[in-house]
Amino acid sequence: MSRRRGRLAALTVFLCAALIIVCYAAGLWIRFFRDRGNDLPEDATGMEITFLDVGEGDAILVTADGESMLVDGGLPECSDLIYTVLKNRELDHLRYVVCTHPHSDHAGGLSGALRYAAVDEAFCCAAEYDSRSFDSFVKALEKQGVELQIPQAGRQLQLGAAVITVISPSKQYEELNDNSLVLRIDYGRTSVLLAGDAGYQAELDMMDSDYPLRADILKVGHHGSGSSSYYYFLDAVEPEYAVISVGRDNENGHPSQNVLDKLEKLGAEVFRTDTDGDITFISDGKTFIKKNDNS
Ligand SMILES: [Zn+2]
Repeated sequence: MSRRRGRLAALTVFLCAALIIVCYAAGLWIRFFRDRGNDLPEDATGMEITFLDVGEGDAILVTADGESMLVDGGLPECSDLIYTVLKNRELDHLRYVVCTHPHSDHAGGLSGALRYAAVDEAFCCAAEYDSRSFDSFVKALEKQGVELQIPQAGRQLQLGAAVITVISPSKQYEELNDNSLVLRIDYGRTSVLLAGDAGYQAELDMMDSDYPLRADILKVGHHGSGSSSYYYFLDAVEPEYAVISVGRDNENGHPSQNVLDKLEKLGAEVFRTDTDGDITFISDGKTFIKKNDNS
């Protein structure tokens, strides 16, 4: 072999080795970022979700990257409490207010929120319902010049870097609880499912839909009632944390022992507003951390 050909062969071996090393390093680099990544923009600051203790009712406050949404407001007597919660957090602007359905344990306290905060957009599964608490919610919206929208399943909303998807109802049900707006919130790789008071029928239809159901946190449907939380629905959600918004010594016997047993069987960690008070989780887009009251 001539000296020139020898040098060429050595150079080829060197280049091949260098290429292999570069490819290997690039693979490691990609895997490093894929494992550590949270799929969020660089300026994302995190999401916080609080299940407020409003007794036998629902009220959930979500803040993602500085934008806030209130989902339900508890009973009418919770109006002052909701007002105070927003005031203490200096949340005088809500990007969205969602009334999952017009029953008074969900719509009742929303007028308190609207006394303190200006809202951009408001949603409910119905625009009319014959009750004083729903009327006062609609009137408070009118006062702000905000129209109550009825979103279709599939409608998506942006809250900071969080994507909120309405995944139910996909049709009109006879039972008002089944018409609850069910929201899926995706923040980076973390997710929450807020099931409102949706019952078996709505759960079955969600399972038939193409919406992903698996979520890190499930707000258990209808205060843990036995008319919700079909086993295969819970199995599809497979939550790490299950939150039951329920009143102390409530007359409805919520939550049902049967639902608690199903959640235990699925390995979900259960939190209840009647025993835990306000329940807050924080997401960095990768994982949820339960916030302690003193932190
Ligand atoms: Zn309810």
